[in-house]
Amino acid sequence: MEIERHEYDVVVIGAGGAGLRAAIEARQQGKRTAIVCKSLFGKAHTVMAEGGAAAAMGNVNSDDNWMVHFRDTMRGGKFLNNWRMAELHAKEAPDRVWELEAWGALFDRTKDGKISQRNFGGHEYPRLAHVGDRTGLELIRTLQQRVVALQQEDERLHGDAEAYIKVFQECTITRLLKEAGPGESGAISGAFGYWRENGKLILFDAPAIVLATGGIGKSYVVTSNSWEYTGDGHALALLAGAKLINMEFIQFHPTGMVWPPSVRGILVTESVRGDGGVLRNSEGKRFMFDYIPEVFKDKYATTEEEGDRWYTDQANNRRPPELLPRDEVARAINSEVKAGRGSPQGGVYLDVSTRLPAAEIVKRLPSMHHQFKELADVDITKEAMQVGPTCHYIMGGVEVDADTGAAGVPGLFAAGEVSGGMHGSNRLGGNSLSDLLVFGRRAGAGAASYVDGLAARPKISEEVVAAASAEALAPLERAGENPYEVHHELQRTMNELVGIIRKAEEVSEALEAVEKLKERAQGVGAAGSRIYNPGWHLALDLRNMLLVSECVAKAALLRQESRGGHTRDDFPGMSPEWRTKILLCALNPDGSGVTVEEQVQPPMRDDLITLFDRDELKKYITEEELAAFDALAK
Ligand code: FAD
Repeated sequence: MEIERHEYDVVVIGAGGAGLRAAIEARQQGKRTAIVCKSLFGKAHTVMAEGGAAAAMGNVNSDDNWMVHFRDTMRGGKFLNNWRMAELHAKEAPDRVWELEAWGALFDRTKDGKISQRNFGGHEYPRLAHVGDRTGLELIRTLQQRVVALQQEDERLHGDAEAYIKVFQECTITRLLKEAGPGESGAISGAFGYWRENGKLILFDAPAIVLATGGIGKSYVVTSNSWEYTGDGHALALLAGAKLINMEFIQFHPTGMVWPPSVRGILVTESVRGDGGVLRNSEGKRFMFDYIPEVFKDKYATTEEEGDRWYTDQANNRRPPELLPRDEVARAINSEVKAGRGSPQGGVYLDVSTRLPAAEIVKRLPSMHHQFKELADVDITKEAMQVGPTCHYIMGGVEVDADTGAAGVPGLFAAGEVSGGMHGSNRLGGNSLSDLLVFGRRAGAGAASYVDGLAARPKISEEVVAAASAEALAPLERAGENPYEVHHELQRTMNELVGIIRKAEEVSEALEAVEKLKERAQGVGAAGSRIYNPGWHLALDLRNMLLVSECVAKAALLRQESRGGHTRDDFPGMSPEWRTKILLCALNPDGSGVTVEEQVQPPMRDDLITLFDRDELKKYITEEELAAFDALAK
């Protein structure tokens, strides 16, 4: 079998914000680095990010600082976050944004010329550095420009622009390789995949891999995510022996388009609400005032007048409840629609037309204006949008070391949406873009220093390569079921049975369905050749989506409480006992599926927990933890 072979120090899988930042770091530390991405270079999910990157720079409100950001992030995640990650993120995000600016990013400015920052749900102060509602595009453009600048430097220094950093686009990785024979290290030795265009096989010999493959949304029917989000990195990590955490927590963004059906799920940025847009039901009522949960009661306005005043005077008013964290808003919309107060197409109304002058709307929200005009023939400067929840982001992912991104298998690192912990049970808007930069850099550095410490490169055995090739080519050699049938059934199952509101019977039903789909997936076949064959690609992606869906459903069944992106109809409250636990998914030794286990979280460091008020903490933590806090405060 002909297989193209390459040798690198670090292979970064994924060219979104996390992957590019990791690759830049590894290259800056002198490592020969490959960037591999299954989409075109530049078409990562990050490019779709609209609202901005959260960083406590204090440009618009000088009261902001890392401690306020840390507190907001922990609150948003309902205190389940890996607090070390939340701490590093809050402390380092401003430097990462300024670094982007130094590399050429053109952020919107305040009147006095600083990087402008906008309001977003759950953030106490205006904190999102942004470029209109196209921030992700600028972030990716800047990081790509940085990659090119490094390549130009390599051209000057070594006469070869790709000597130290090279991009392999439209190239999908299907297996991570390990040195795993008897008496061998069990360390990562490379990655195996195929070129999407011509179906040829490719192998990377590399001691360090950084996974930066993004999320899993394509396991659901209604999603803001695009075709690449099939949970590849999550599955590759599991198959290589790493663990996934927090997989039950999925963010259903409150505002996706609901009409027409062909665009259902496409995101309507939170900036619409951040910039003054309000949610109304079919009776014209601003219903979010009825849905302020107990834990947030003192932080949100209780009247429309106060909420409206907040946009111009934040010091003396509380924020409107449209800006509650996303999980709260999504559940509220779901309840309104279920109660028969929805819009004709099954959403609710999001109105900015009566709140801002038309010119201002077009200036601040150009993509939204364009998106609704082109896709739904709705002019958002004149009429309300219809919106409803859409599967948007997974808080769960690869369990990593906060400081280095190391993923438990020697040589494996992960960053960005594919990693878990940072956002706890619910991510605040804007915290992903800054997460990519902070932890992308750390994972790139972690991989580089791991390579520096190696005595010898782990070897790739020919048996391992043969098994990976056979697995990749198998669907082409079968005249089996159409993979699209299996995929659609999986999407329906996850949407209907493990969606925004969950019940034990339904999740169990989903698990039974996933087991059957796993069997069917073994038999799917792809007609045609290896040359650009999407049916074949999907047949391979199914393994990943099914593994990830099994993790989501098993963890959702085990966690008997409601928290953030996991709402159990049969266990509606948050439980302080459950907060101390995270759920860990691991591949069964025989590869038959996954097992989920509880693990106790390490308690928050003293100097971090004392950043919170006792009154707030007691809403989340156990009596025992509260007693420990009291002892500290004495
Ligand atoms: P991505 O940017 O998705 O990149 C993943 C990369 O992995 C791609 O290059 C893909 O081709 C590659 N890949 C995947 N599988 C494989 C494989 N098997 N082999 C090879 N390559 C592979 N967050 C914010 O903070 N602020 C916002 O304003 C915001 N707006 C958003 C708007 C939308 C519409 C969406 C969908 C998300 C938004 N988010 C936002 C979330 C944020 O954009 C994502 O969480 C983030 O961009 C993920 O970045 P990443 O680097 O982890 O992955």
